Amino acid sequence: MAELDLTQKPIYPNSLYEAAQGVGLTSQRSRDRLVSRLLSNKQLDIEVLNAIRVTPRHLFMDEALANRAYEDTSLPIGYGQTISQPGTVALMTSWVKQGSRSLNRVLDVGTGSGYQAAILSLVAKQVYSVERIAPLSLRAQYCLDQLAVRNIRFTLSDGHWGWSTFAPYDAIVCAAAPDSIPEALVEQLAEGGRLVLPVGEKEQLLTGVEKTATGIKTITLGVAVFVPLVKGRLD
Ligand code: SAH
Repeated sequence: MAELDLTQKPIYPNSLYEAAQGVGLTSQRSRDRLVSRLLSNKQLDIEVLNAIRVTPRHLFMDEALANRAYEDTSLPIGYGQTISQPGTVALMTSWVKQGSRSLNRVLDVGTGSGYQAAILSLVAKQVYSVERIAPLSLRAQYCLDQLAVRNIRFTLSDGHWGWSTFAPYDAIVCAAAPDSIPEALVEQLAEGGRLVLPVGEKEQLLTGVEKTATGIKTITLGVAVFVPLVKGRLD
C-alpha cells in the first residue's frame, strides 16, 4: 500500500494558504496526528487521507471550537447541524472513490460547513453541493472561496431531489439521514456510480449503494450518527 507523502506541499491554490495553517491545536502537526490515527483503518484511501491532511478543518467551524477541529468527532456548526467527523468523511469519500468510475462529477448532499465538499474537491474534478439552510450554504461558500477552491457549484434546495441539472453523477455523498434511500439519488447516479449515505431514524446504517445495469447493490459500511435529511428548504 502507498505511504502517505508527508512532504507533499499544500494543494490549495490560495496564496493566503500559509496564513490559514493555524498554530498549536490548529497547526499542521495536529492535522498530521489526526491522519496518522486514521491510517490504522485500512479501508481508507491514501489520496483521501492526504486531502484530510492538507485541509484546515478549523476554518470550517466556529472559532470557539477550533481547538477541537482535529479530534475525530463531529462538532456543532449552528442551526442544529454538525460538521461531519473526519474519519467518517474519509470512509465515505474512500468508498465512492474505490468504485469503478473516475470521479468527474460528484454530488454532495448537505453542504453544511463545506468540509466534506472541500475534501471531495481535491479528489474529484467537479463537485455539486446541495444544502437546504441558506446561511450555512453561504458560510461554506465564503470559506471555500477563501481557500480559492473553484471546482464546487452550490445550490439551495431539498437534497431528496438530488440536483438533476448536472446528473448523472459518478458518485453521490449524502451527509444527512433519510428513512429510506431517496429514489432521485439512485436515478441521478451513472451506471457503476456509487452513493453513500446514512439510512434510518435513530440507529443509522452507513450504506453504500452501487448502481448496476440491472438495479442496485447495497452494502453496510458501519453504524453512524448523522442529522436527519429534512424535507423542504429554509431561506
Ligand atoms: N457535509 C457537511 C455535513 C453537515 S450536516 C459537513 O462536512 O459539514 C448535514 C447537512 O445536511 C446540514 O447542513 C443540513 O442542513 C443538511 N440537510 C439536511 N436535510 C437536507 C436536505 N433535505 N437537503 C439538503 N441538505 C440537507
